[in-house]
Amino acid sequence: SLTIGIVGLPNVGKSTLFNALTKNDVLAANYPFATIEPNVGVVGVPDPRLTKLAEIFGSERVLPATVDFVDIAGIVRGASEGEGLGNKFLHNIRESDAICQVVRAFRDDNVVHVDGKVSPKDDIETINTELILADLQTIEKVLPRLAKEARVKKDRQPILRAVEEAKTILEEGRTLFSAGIRQGTEPAEPLRELHLLTVKPFLYVFNVDEEELTDEAFQAEQRALVAPAEAVFLNAKLESDLGELDDEEALELLQSVGQEEPGLATLARAGFETLGLQTYLTAGPKEARAWTIKRGATAPEAAGVIHTDFQKGFIKAEIVSYDELVEAGSLADARAKGRARMEGKDYVMRDGDVVEFRFNV
Ligand code: GDP
Repeated sequence: SLTIGIVGLPNVGKSTLFNALTKNDVLAANYPFATIEPNVGVVGVPDPRLTKLAEIFGSERVLPATVDFVDIAGIVRGASEGEGLGNKFLHNIRESDAICQVVRAFRDDNVVHVDGKVSPKDDIETINTELILADLQTIEKVLPRLAKEARVKKDRQPILRAVEEAKTILEEGRTLFSAGIRQGTEPAEPLRELHLLTVKPFLYVFNVDEEELTDEAFQAEQRALVAPAEAVFLNAKLESDLGELDDEEALELLQSVGQEEPGLATLARAGFETLGLQTYLTAGPKEARAWTIKRGATAPEAAGVIHTDFQKGFIKAEIVSYDELVEAGSLADARAKGRARMEGKDYVMRDGDVVEFRFNV
């Protein structure tokens, strides 16, 4: 599955946040025998539709979609110079599908800031600079070979051009992502073989004091700083405390700081969005479940997420939209009203599709 790497300067609250993430581990709750890597936190993407579906179908349990966060310790200035920890750090980021930077915005004289002052803007630049330098090194290493290849092979010319363009952007101190060259999209395609870091989607977590959780002006300022990346505002200590409380106490604590849901829930949603994912839903007496697919996935691809045999033997998918199902009150009533559609192998899945696959075994 896709993973989001958590990075950030020392002392910004990464461990505190990661601790909160692992306390919330939905895998541990739902799959007690699953092996979970110590540096991976699996968080459920809250979806109230599942609770409703469980009601309609009398499902025993609800299984939300999940997002995997990986703790990538050890960024330091000079990481791109590739010494020891720095190398391992860059390798771990390369393996991630998105980069989530934790940024310190909380004030606390007892917690030392590595650069002596709390400045989200400077911290973001510091990390971006390391990633940009690492990409520039990658490019400089391959450029002579690419130039040679482009001279003899026409089909290598677009790659050389794309790499030269990327180099210019990086030399201006910009990430490729912020320049619109993003992993999984057309402009990033020729760069694929280089495994660059800054083409990955970025996501920012601002670790803020409680007052800033409801400070719209402050948040708008930080959002502008990181756009087009998504920004999430949370207090890592508070998130960690929430993990120790029962539901009712947790809700009370959240309300006392003006929040409707835990910051981790917001983060899971933003992570899901950043990775370009969406869900479809299934429901029955055993479980109501959200399945994760890439945006734009077809019905057979969606079936393949449940089981590869479902994809191989795919015949068709019976689909009711969540809203129409709820309006009808039951699957039988939705069918009777003609709300259940039969879709074939070219159908592109939509958010909120409630699905039953028909397949050959
Ligand atoms: P890391 O080095 O980025 O992993 O940071 P840690 O999670 O170890 O946090 C560094 C210090 O900051 C610890 O003493 C934490 O208790 C403290 N800390 C983390 N989050 C917050 C926060 O939201 N507010 C305050 N005041 N302190 C925090």
